[in-house]
Amino acid sequence: MKRRLGILHREELLQHSFGELHPFKGRERHEVYMKLLRENRILERPNVRVVETSLVATEEDLLAVHDRSLLDAIKFLSVRGGWLDGDTPVPPGTYERALIQTGGVMQGCEMVLKGELNVAVQCAMFGGHHATRSHVGKSFGFCYFNQEAVAIRYVQRKGLASKVFVLDCDAHHGNGIHEIFYEDPSVLYMSLHQDPRTLYPGTGRAEEIGEGEGRGFTVNIPLPPGTSNQAYLKALKELFLPLFKAFKPDMLFLLLGADTYYSDPLTSLDLTMSCYIEVARLIASASDEICEGRVMIELAGGYDVEAAARAFYLATAVLAGVEEVSVKDDVILEDKWVLNRVDDTINTVKRLLSPYWPGVWR
Ligand SMILES: [Zn+2]
Repeated sequence: MKRRLGILHREELLQHSFGELHPFKGRERHEVYMKLLRENRILERPNVRVVETSLVATEEDLLAVHDRSLLDAIKFLSVRGGWLDGDTPVPPGTYERALIQTGGVMQGCEMVLKGELNVAVQCAMFGGHHATRSHVGKSFGFCYFNQEAVAIRYVQRKGLASKVFVLDCDAHHGNGIHEIFYEDPSVLYMSLHQDPRTLYPGTGRAEEIGEGEGRGFTVNIPLPPGTSNQAYLKALKELFLPLFKAFKPDMLFLLLGADTYYSDPLTSLDLTMSCYIEVARLIASASDEICEGRVMIELAGGYDVEAAARAFYLATAVLAGVEEVSVKDDVILEDKWVLNRVDDTINTVKRLLSPYWPGVWR
């Protein structure tokens, strides 16, 4: 299938800076990503285009997910600049840019569900998945609004989708998305993340599988530091693929983090470039089979700027239909202890979820 792929863009977002010393370098990362797409002639392909987004989130869109107190706090801080927490500065103009970036995700989902694109990709200038419903007593981890949840609620409200599968491949657990949909069976949230005992935000144990009607619709796959390609891909194949097929969503929402890369300065997972190619291939074939190829991709964390941009470019190239994508990869030896630990986790997740998904792992 020749996928029509759109790179979502809005010039104003490039103005967002967390500051010189902050690890999130959104603009630099975006520039290297676009340069790689141009150099490798991805943007010249007839099925690929840059989409200048026009949709801007409204208060009503945000209030479908967040408490007003959070909106008010960010709006207030955004006038003169301030901080949400020690990691998350709010430079002047943040509120307006957060509405634009969230609107971009909403528009991407809408275009995919209406068949105007098969795959929409946004290279985020700041995060979303740590943003919880309200701000009281919580930390933010480089996020303002939960743009993923806001966009999903938006397309559900418009009747464009009923079920959405969120696959969160950022190294950090997306505690915000997890919390927002914890009791909701219409959104299956699956996160592969570094063991919460070893990384921010410290949530996302395998035993947390949802509550009430949402029980069985939250899937946390904590991975030990040192997890590399083989174990990572095994977890995706044994847990993501069968559940994705059983859930039969209208759309896949992928958060692709490159802070899972071995050189990332903030995390301790050990993926290499070929893993992102494999993940993209797996996503492409699974979504073609299950949801008519409808995929929204948010390019999420990634703090080794060059590496993150390259990982994002490789994944984009695969989804754009480039067949000969390959890479000279660094070799990371698979650690036997890590492989065994990941096997244990895969079995634990299957055991916990089997009652809610009969027959899936027979
Ligand atoms: Zn992250």
